[in-house]
Amino acid sequence: MDEITVHSPATVANVVCGFDCLGFALSEPFDVMTLRKIEQKTIRIKHHDDFGLPTHPGKNVAGAVLGSILDNIDADFGFDIEITKRIKPGSGIGSSAASAAGAAVAANILLGDRFSKSALVEFARNGEAVACGSRIADNVSACIFGGFTLVRATEPVADVISLDHPTLFAAVIHPQIEIKTADARAVMPREFPLTTAVRQWGNVGALVAGLAKGDYDLIARSLEDFVAEPYRKNLIPHYDELKTAGLQAGALGGGISGSGPSVFMLARTREIAGNVVNAMNRVYDKTEIAVNCYVSDVEKNGVRIARDVIHGQ
Ligand code: ADP
Repeated sequence: MDEITVHSPATVANVVCGFDCLGFALSEPFDVMTLRKIEQKTIRIKHHDDFGLPTHPGKNVAGAVLGSILDNIDADFGFDIEITKRIKPGSGIGSSAASAAGAAVAANILLGDRFSKSALVEFARNGEAVACGSRIADNVSACIFGGFTLVRATEPVADVISLDHPTLFAAVIHPQIEIKTADARAVMPREFPLTTAVRQWGNVGALVAGLAKGDYDLIARSLEDFVAEPYRKNLIPHYDELKTAGLQAGALGGGISGSGPSVFMLARTREIAGNVVNAMNRVYDKTEIAVNCYVSDVEKNGVRIARDVIHGQ
């Protein structure tokens, strides 16, 4: 096989209490990526979208990942990649991670499935380094493994654990404002009191247990964040109102997706998630802020082979 098209999903990092370690994949939105093996020892990138992303292989997340894979196997060939990005860069739902993970998984398929998912996470982390200067692993892990993931440690390599979970749906609202990841990091304290840490890891453990047991009440109780939300919420207009509206519409809980500005809420059914997204949307109706909304189930497989996909659609 010399050509493959994959769908690479958006992801929610942190999942409220699991700062920099928890994540899950969404079925919607996703990027479409077609990768071809070519004879020339080079990487060619073409974007079918209007985001103006760099196409130089060293500056594009997908190019950096493909380059690291070609180096690793000392390849005498190259890749041509076409990307239709549907996940807006800077949205906080893993736009760069989708390019990184999609490139890694697609390359692995063309290379005869020679790498494990854990190895693909390491290649994909090289793409995240291009996007944000750090080899973060939470979004790419969820994107490659699918479902809910926990990154227990990142050094020397990411130790990724796939988590069991019950049926869950996500309501996601993306207000069209810009939050730089660096700014979202800068507003957070470097150190926390032990009492705060205890409350936070109590919730992380309980959320993982709630997901494993399918205990929706426990999941709801565990969706609390004392580490990022108190500081980052000030970067998102009407954040408290948004959350109250979502909870009143029946959400189990939720918070800032990654470093924002997207906000997500989890719900037991698609219908409730639809009500939640409508309720959150109404908060912004009375403002000048435009939004994108998604109702999605949890994407179980992560990056997946596309069937009958046409670029640009
Ligand atoms: P997100 O949290 O949505 O991934 P980031 O701000 O972390 O957003 O990443 C987007 C950054 O990565 C932008 O600066 C963008 O220019 C850069 N970038 C380079 N290549 C890509 C790519 N293929 N897909 C997405 N972002 C890319």
